[in-house]
Amino acid sequence: MTKFHSHAVRGVQQPIRIASYVWLVAFLISCTSPTPAPQVFPTFILVTQAANASPTATPFQPSGEINTSVPTFTQVPPVTAVSTNTLTPVPTLTTTLTPIPPTQVAVAATTAVPPPVDPARTNYILSAELDFDAHTLDVDETIRYYNNTGVALSDIVLSVQPNRYGGAFSLFAVFQDNMTLTTYSLNDQRLTLNLSQPLQPGSATTLGIKFKINIPVKASEGLFGYDYNQIDLVDWYPFVVPYINNSWTLHDPLSFGEHLVYDVSDIELNLKTGSDVVVAASAPSEQNGEWTRYRLYGARTFTLSASDEFLMSESAVGPVKIRSYYFDGYQAAGEGILYAAVQAVSIFSVKFAPYPYETLAIVQTDIHDGMEYDGLVFLASDFYGQYGGGAKNNLVSIGVHEIAHQWWFGLVGNDQAMEPWLDEMMATYSERIFYEFNYPRYGDWWWQFRVDYFSPSGYVDTTIYDGGTFRAYTNAVYLRGAHFMEDLRVRMGDDNFFAFLKDYSTRYSRGRVTTADFIGTVRANTTADISDVIVNYFLGSY
Ligand SMILES: [Zn+2]
Repeated sequence: MTKFHSHAVRGVQQPIRIASYVWLVAFLISCTSPTPAPQVFPTFILVTQAANASPTATPFQPSGEINTSVPTFTQVPPVTAVSTNTLTPVPTLTTTLTPIPPTQVAVAATTAVPPPVDPARTNYILSAELDFDAHTLDVDETIRYYNNTGVALSDIVLSVQPNRYGGAFSLFAVFQDNMTLTTYSLNDQRLTLNLSQPLQPGSATTLGIKFKINIPVKASEGLFGYDYNQIDLVDWYPFVVPYINNSWTLHDPLSFGEHLVYDVSDIELNLKTGSDVVVAASAPSEQNGEWTRYRLYGARTFTLSASDEFLMSESAVGPVKIRSYYFDGYQAAGEGILYAAVQAVSIFSVKFAPYPYETLAIVQTDIHDGMEYDGLVFLASDFYGQYGGGAKNNLVSIGVHEIAHQWWFGLVGNDQAMEPWLDEMMATYSERIFYEFNYPRYGDWWWQFRVDYFSPSGYVDTTIYDGGTFRAYTNAVYLRGAHFMEDLRVRMGDDNFFAFLKDYSTRYSRGRVTTADFIGTVRANTTADISDVIVNYFLGSY
């Protein structure tokens, strides 16, 4: 996920685009340790369809940092609603995707229906009223928390990301089992509830939280917040963090890399907005009286983006509805990424596991690369502006990367701060699989454009805290990770390698993996000795 440092201002972008390009070049020259920056800038452009294509400068720098400075976007008065135009749906595209053998497409079409609410999982029911123009969100949250930690809990810790933004989060009241709870503390991102009696293993409690968010201005390198025509709500409600190895897991944020770790939960959101606001969300919507209800089961987090200017095109892979939300002037790009998404969901459903949710939303926004959430991914407006058709570009490669995170983050979770390679390496290598099966002649292009151009070095098992610069971090985790996967595949052979991918995504479906789980599942799928491959890429011994 991520962004670099320009601002893709829709409509008025020429000067800004040039400025960002200069910055991009400066970035490439200035911050590549430990390996020196590539000396020859864009040789790969020669093999690219789009004349101006160049790799995103900061592939996958995630959100998470807070920048309270004045944003750089140009305020443009809201254009009166072109908004709710739903363009003529794009026909279902799977039948035209000849590169995938027909039997595989048939399997892809049996994509999963989400599991029912699981009483052993944390259940969130949220009622939220969004005032789009005033940038406020009033929320009543009910959490049914089931203690499956195996130990008695004297406190419960929740993540409250909006509280990292000065003045954005107002906590009105906390309840436990319908009684007001006053023994809590809220410090930065951490809300600690001190329970009057320990919560015994195997028992449940119901928590209530009333709060309001004064949605902040979206920082140029962040997602959470509003700009002139869009509100992005990510990690916006308090959630119980995982309890791992006898402690609540809530890592410190960093300027790059994701720091949050999630359990799988069942989420219901009842939402009210103004009638001219279009909402892109992690789940399908239905009317519930005067509310719009969304239900997302077996997921990490519920995300939405609202705009009074969204245009939308949709397609499907079997029962999975895929919707692309974009802005006026970007229809070709919005439909281009929709087509790629259909291809990606098709091939990943075959090669990994059925797509984990009922819907997928792809949302254009002002960030600098992309960012994944369950059932919803954000992609940079710059990529839409650069798009010239085809698949050799940032919009498709980064878009496919974020879509792959639906499996490697959503379905199979991990500690994104301490073992980020488990989701980032897998999402990056999934791009290679996407091109391999849909555009087999683009293999060399992909390795050069997305990986080797950056001369990757470093250890794959780097944490977000010991990666040094952002460039060094992504070079080690994402890009050397891609080479690790390729070497592993050669050592195992294709049959065992793809059997491993299925075994891994099935065995740890809606769970959370560790490095030991990954390596153990590899070893369960091959008799080959992989120890030298691991030594070559990993600092730790496994
Ligand atoms: Zn990623």
